Amino acid sequence: MSLARVVAVAPGSPADAAGVEVGDELVDVNGEELRDVIRYQVQVDEPEVALTLRRKDTLIPVTVSKPAGAPLGVELHSAVFDRVRTCDNHCPFCFIYQLPKGMRRSLYLKDDDYRLSHLYGNFTTLTRFTEADLERVVTEGLGPLYVSIHATDPEVRTRLLRNRRGATSLRWLDALLDAGVEVHGQIVVCPGVNDGPVLDDTLLGILDRFPDLATVGAVPLGVSDHSNEPDMRPHTTAEAVAVVDTIEAWQDRYLAALGRRMIFAADEYYLMADRPFPEADAYEGFAQHENGIGMARTFAAEVDAALAGHAVTGVGPRAGFFASVDGAPAAGYRAPRTRRTRLAVRDARGGAPVVLLTGEYGARVLTPHVAALGDLAGVDVRLHPVPNRFFGGNIAVTGLMTGEDIAAALAAVPDDARVLLPDVALSQDRFLDGTRVADLPRAVEVVGTDGASLVAALRPAVALAAG
Ligand code: SF4
Repeated sequence: MSLARVVAVAPGSPADAAGVEVGDELVDVNGEELRDVIRYQVQVDEPEVALTLRRKDTLIPVTVSKPAGAPLGVELHSAVFDRVRTCDNHCPFCFIYQLPKGMRRSLYLKDDDYRLSHLYGNFTTLTRFTEADLERVVTEGLGPLYVSIHATDPEVRTRLLRNRRGATSLRWLDALLDAGVEVHGQIVVCPGVNDGPVLDDTLLGILDRFPDLATVGAVPLGVSDHSNEPDMRPHTTAEAVAVVDTIEAWQDRYLAALGRRMIFAADEYYLMADRPFPEADAYEGFAQHENGIGMARTFAAEVDAALAGHAVTGVGPRAGFFASVDGAPAAGYRAPRTRRTRLAVRDARGGAPVVLLTGEYGARVLTPHVAALGDLAGVDVRLHPVPNRFFGGNIAVTGLMTGEDIAAALAAVPDDARVLLPDVALSQDRFLDGTRVADLPRAVEVVGTDGASLVAALRPAVALAAG
């Protein structure tokens, strides 16, 4: 088991006052050898925290006194200190298999670890879940969890996961729900495989067997140019329309049977089907916002409210794609995800345009707001969709933009423009291709991806105060 390593100590914090230093390793906390940040958090919530630190081969006991529940002021190098449990499935739609070669190694890790599900919202298939895991989830209250369902038919699920345990592992979902754990489900819909009658059967199966699921998201298969699976292909428009119709028909049935819709289609489906997004109420709280479900609707609501001068707390994404593999402890266990980068942007005033970099899907979400945002900024606001050549295929979401593609797109941006980049494309200040904002050929300003942050960045008085 590797030890937790301290990567930051907040100045003036209890840990700082007690002499904890960056680079120290935590041998134990209150006598417990820690497996993950979940146990760390439990231990450091105590008012008296006894740390054993290892600093250059010397063990140093340190006692920290603070109010119960107050933060210690330490950030650790990772969320999990023993081995991340890797997945033993071989799903033909797995995005890890569709990554180009040569990316940083951590991105190729296929995790199926309930702790990362709890901490980051990663989906787990439960094929490696055990009785001991169930006990820990229940006793430590590790909900919500996020479970990949894909199909409730055992044979279809086995085929989709390419793992015979796929046929039986949903028994753990039963057990989790029986124990009162909040669980959200996901169906990755692969056209010709688990759409059509299979999707109907799955939604019936969920209503029948798992009515206590909090929500279920239906998301479309993403296919990059690097997929080697001949049966995996993007949806046609007609297939996307059919999925939206199926989900909405089942929403009505769930509403009648359970009093809530529970099942939601990803925003991408509405874009592909060229259908208007459902009203905000229909998302019943946006529990799967980070899964791309209701993002467009919340963005619109945030922009409208911010333009109207109302205080808005953006739902906003809390973690970038692959956040769990970059060593960034999950939200609540770490410092803010990315620093806002402000590079010479204040000079780009006086009539110069503001250019919003975004993915091709994001551009369609932003388009209805561009005129109002331009009025707010008092300048020409333009969208600049960045084609995703790095992944290719049907990959068009903003969170998968890479530095390489952004650099190419910037060549067409006027020299005097103020350029805004949504932070969802970054994880620990890096794009997925490993490049950083500082590697881009010109200055850009990183802003929050939610509507309120964009409005704040465009409203001159607010922006100046923040800078
Ligand atoms: S369970 Fe997830 S990580 Fe594992 S192969 Fe399937 S899609 Fe990939």
